[in-house]
Amino acid sequence: MHELSGRPAARWAWALAAFVLLLAGCAHARAPGPGDAGRLDVLAVEVFLADIASNVGGDRIRVAALLPEGADPHGYEPTPSDVRRVADCQVLIVNGGGLEGFLERLLAGAGGQKAVIVASDGLQSRTVEQGHEGDPGHTGDPHFWLDPNLVLTYVENIRAGLSAVDPDGSADYAVNAQAYGAELTALDAWIRDRVQTIPEARRLLVTNHESLGYYADRYGLRVVGTIIPSVSSGASPSAQQMVELVEKIRATGAPAVFLESGSNPRLADQLSSEAGILVVPGLYTHSPGSAGAGAGSYIGMMRANTLTIVEALQ
Ligand SMILES: [Zn+2]
Repeated sequence: MHELSGRPAARWAWALAAFVLLLAGCAHARAPGPGDAGRLDVLAVEVFLADIASNVGGDRIRVAALLPEGADPHGYEPTPSDVRRVADCQVLIVNGGGLEGFLERLLAGAGGQKAVIVASDGLQSRTVEQGHEGDPGHTGDPHFWLDPNLVLTYVENIRAGLSAVDPDGSADYAVNAQAYGAELTALDAWIRDRVQTIPEARRLLVTNHESLGYYADRYGLRVVGTIIPSVSSGASPSAQQMVELVEKIRATGAPAVFLESGSNPRLADQLSSEAGILVVPGLYTHSPGSAGAGAGSYIGMMRANTLTIVEALQ
């Protein structure tokens, strides 16, 4: 068990350094090769990340998500069985960027060496404008995946990480990554086209917490405000912050507040009655939802979200 101290940002930096080290240290030692021990056993922390990994790994990997569908990664508390699953997998894929505040504890509990791929490695956080009092673990915005263009970096990091652990699969991973990258590029163009059908003055977002910053930046929307004024979902707004949000909504004429799936509707309902704003449920931001809900995969989730946003704002 490591005794860590210092600021959370410094601790996270320590964790990132350790991940790279562990990946370098055990790249070949634990490589099973699909020929001898079946497929590479990969665990991705979030469901959307497991789907992205599955597209890159194809038949050479067996991938599962650590967190159940609908779980909130910001406030997640790992269970003893999570620790066992991390200990048993051959490769762990994390989003990084400060999303998984529980990772250090989880890895320390799992013990041993672990190949860890940080999917968002190399991406720069957007500037987070709102305050984060009481939310010291989030110094940047980890929601890179809500911009498919940034997911191209996830794909490249996953391709490189899988290739390091399983060099015999390198050519397969490269082919898969290229094909999936083309799907992401097409998705990016499709979202851009859809958003452009919204009148410019109505391209305004209000959400639960500050999750859609990268999406808004990419597609020319503006985040007017969020109920929870944070890039984490763990905080809660003060009465004064709610008053300010109502004022911003009135001043901009933002048509709707989008309720992220799994979040508590109480504050959105309060906002709806105070600001006369429509509550639109069913935004899949941290988990793709079930296939029946129109999502079921990372690409499906992004398409479903875009249709929800466009329909409400048009
Ligand atoms: Zn979030």
